[in-house]
Amino acid sequence: MHNRIKFWLLFVLLYILAFFIWWTYSLMDLNQEKFSLLLKNEELRAKQECMMMRNNMYQKEGEPFPKESIENYAQENCKGLELFWDEAGKPDLRVSKTVIDRNTAELKKERFKYLTEGITMFIMIAIGIIWIFVRIGKILNLSKQQNNFLLSVSHELKTPITAIQLSAQTLNRNFEKLNTENKFKLLDTINANTGRLNGLIDQMLILTRIEGSQYKYDKQDIDLKELVNGVIQNSSNTQLSHFTVINNIPSNAIVFFDRLTFELCFSNLIENSIKYSPNGGTISINGISKGGNWHIEVCDEGVGIKDEEKKRVFEKFYRVGNEDTRTSKGTGLGLYLVKQILSRQNASIRVKDNEPNGSIFVIKLKIK
Ligand code: ATP
Ligand code: MG
Repeated sequence: MHNRIKFWLLFVLLYILAFFIWWTYSLMDLNQEKFSLLLKNEELRAKQECMMMRNNMYQKEGEPFPKESIENYAQENCKGLELFWDEAGKPDLRVSKTVIDRNTAELKKERFKYLTEGITMFIMIAIGIIWIFVRIGKILNLSKQQNNFLLSVSHELKTPITAIQLSAQTLNRNFEKLNTENKFKLLDTINANTGRLNGLIDQMLILTRIEGSQYKYDKQDIDLKELVNGVIQNSSNTQLSHFTVINNIPSNAIVFFDRLTFELCFSNLIENSIKYSPNGGTISINGISKGGNWHIEVCDEGVGIKDEEKKRVFEKFYRVGNEDTRTSKGTGLGLYLVKQILSRQNASIRVKDNEPNGSIFVIKLKIK
């Protein structure tokens, strides 16, 4: 689909380019003709004036023309023409150099005008067309991603529902036979999956409210270290036990931010660090104060993100890799939501490589 769009974009652009080249060339050609006609006209006038001058200053056959009075006559009556004497010693007139120069300058000016007009029109129309095609491309992309989103979100919703249903059925059917430990295990499963469902729905609702500008930010002083500790403790991810999580945020770090959405940012980033680090490792959260800002880093030792994907991971529904080969589950909304939350509260996020492997997500926000 994209290649077809590119082909048509190129075709239309080339067509317009050819049209404008032809249009500009035709105008310049007409212009050239107009000026040569003007010059011819002047030459004809010179001939006519010359005849009149000779008639007016007629002398007897063989007598020379009175040079001085002819010069006076030409000066008074033949404006824009230049007097000269032909080989036979007779006075003649031609278009003066000043008139020719003026015409040539005028011709150049007009030529330049048509050329710039043509180029400007072409650039404006080309920008318009490129803009339309970019918009169409984006709309197509979004609809493709929305389709993928529907597929993954339905999967994300169905998995916990199935787990809850299975656990509830097991409890229901075998309540007498199950020992207390297994009953608690099943209840834990129900609890964890309900939490997961709840989190997913909350995330989607908050995003809808943020995008629709209906979310009311309740900005307050937040102790960063304590907030991050809370997020780590509340993390429902069972994989967390395979990781060493270090909270390196200094204890004096206070920021002025909306608590709920800020927690959501960290839970998404920590969730991602776990999800995209199949071999476990260390997840460290650092807080560095620099140039009046806090730079909060969430570092992992996972699969990392290629340079060409670094900007795209913040796009709505974007997930790295191919739908068929990807093993991790997700909706591609997490980082988009994080970016929306931060940018709407004058903060920013970017991602860079961790050494020797993994990623570092850096949140930058003003020190209070
Ligand atoms: P969800 O909406 O459930 O969070 P998701 O994790 O796929 O789904 P995002 O959190 O927006 O969506 O992340 C987008 C993509 O960026 C992911 O699919 C993943 O490929 C990549 N990504 C995000 N965080 C990391 C990370 N820490 N390491 C490597 N890749 C990452
Ligand atoms: Mg995610």
